[in-house]
Amino acid sequence: MAFVLTAVGLSAAVFYVDTFTEIEGAIAVFYVVAMLLAAQATSGTGLFLAAAICGALTLFSYGVTHGHDADLPSAIRLTVALAALFVTTMLLVKTETGRLTLVSTNSALKESEARYRSIFDRTRVALWERDYSKLRTYLMDMKARGVTDIKVQAQVDPTLVDRCVGLIRVVAANEAAHEMLGSDPSSDGTLRRAIIPGQERFLDVLQAIINGARIFEERVEIRTHDGEDKLVLLSIVFPEDPAAFNRVVVSMVDITQREMALKALAEAQAELTKASKAAMVGAMSASLAHELNQPLGAIVVNAQTLLRWLDRDPPDFSAARRSAERMIRDSQRASEIIQNTRGLLSPSSNKLEPIDLDEVLVETMALMEHELQRSGVTVHVARKADIPQISIVKIELQQVLINLVTNAIQAMDAAGSRERNITISAGRPDSEHVNITVRDTGPGITGDVRDKLFAPFFTTKPTGLGMGLSICRTTLEARGGKLDGRNHSDGGAVFEMHLPIKPEVEHA
Ligand code: ADP
Repeated sequence: MAFVLTAVGLSAAVFYVDTFTEIEGAIAVFYVVAMLLAAQATSGTGLFLAAAICGALTLFSYGVTHGHDADLPSAIRLTVALAALFVTTMLLVKTETGRLTLVSTNSALKESEARYRSIFDRTRVALWERDYSKLRTYLMDMKARGVTDIKVQAQVDPTLVDRCVGLIRVVAANEAAHEMLGSDPSSDGTLRRAIIPGQERFLDVLQAIINGARIFEERVEIRTHDGEDKLVLLSIVFPEDPAAFNRVVVSMVDITQREMALKALAEAQAELTKASKAAMVGAMSASLAHELNQPLGAIVVNAQTLLRWLDRDPPDFSAARRSAERMIRDSQRASEIIQNTRGLLSPSSNKLEPIDLDEVLVETMALMEHELQRSGVTVHVARKADIPQISIVKIELQQVLINLVTNAIQAMDAAGSRERNITISAGRPDSEHVNITVRDTGPGITGDVRDKLFAPFFTTKPTGLGMGLSICRTTLEARGGKLDGRNHSDGGAVFEMHLPIKPEVEHA
């Protein structure tokens, strides 16, 4: 305000002298001083307005004093005064614009600095700004003297690490860094303490500098102020320009908890594997017991028959021979079952092979001849001409078929069914699969049983194990197949296998 008042007063004085006194000279040039004073209080439009007023006053004074007798000297004085006013105004406006740009750039700079400072301070990652310039110079000197392997050098010179730590200066550290180390993270002592003696990681950092690496990132153990060891992910970004080594950003993320969780997870997984192995052994014993029941039973029946043929008078040796041959066949099957179960433990020995479905069906029904005869059950095989060879482990398919047929026989036996038929049919629902169904004329599956049919150890039989269907389904699923059971619309149960012709899964 004082500047404005002085400028107004000065202008009034200049105007008075210029208009009402006889003093000749470029008095109006003094308006320039008034303009300089006004520039301290106003800018832009204000300056133009002041210049216009001063110019108008100059012209008015000229009109009053030289209006009727204008001569060249007075005209030149007027021009000089107006030109001085114009030039001064333009210079003032230009300076003002420059000043304003500088002020706004400066404030943007301050704002940006404040923003980055707040990110640095508030981030949850521990951050340091460290000066590695002295350390770099020291290491580069060493390199120039021929030292390229810092670990070898550290063995020769045990004080090397300590000396190198002493060359690092902490410029700044954030709050998270403070929390992580538990004391002033910018003090040299803290850095020295954080490096656990005997740890080679600090030497790796030194080696990275010698090698001119841009980034160092490693899991490192550090020691806090309280003596607690923490596992952190340390990363250091080295600048490309050696001159910028005085501002290196170092960050640390505490991964102790994460590592502990991973360790606990690995331990839990190992426990689980042990438990599932135990469960598998259990299931396998149950499976063996279940599968061996059938051939062993058949061997006993055949042995009894053989004895009867021999007890005859005269003994029928050719019938006894047939019984003996059946016993051999059933024993071989029992041995195959054992081998196959063992093969489950080393899956590589369980090879898929292309088989002819008809052949397997005939062979399997021959194995069950006794049971079928004893229960008076007839098996019909409904073949379809276009069933191709399927890739499967033969004994597995046989096991499933024997299980399904045995279940059917037992269901019809238990229900005392009058009509005892089993129909095995094969079809091809699409180009990549075949269906095999085993249908009986028994009582079918009751409502409450249906949901638990395939559950391990579920049985409705007094001497049953409840493993058959569960094993069958698991066996087929391991080869990319399926097994389902339902009631047939004409009565009895029907079990359907859905098998890929060329399974992708090689073993369970
Ligand atoms: P298990 O034969 O030892 O009982 P499974 O898993 O083979 O074990 O069968 C489970 C149950 O499913 C049987 O106890 C029976 O109740 C039922 N089941 C299986 N097949 C048939 C079938 N063809 N008809 C009626 N019920 C069946």
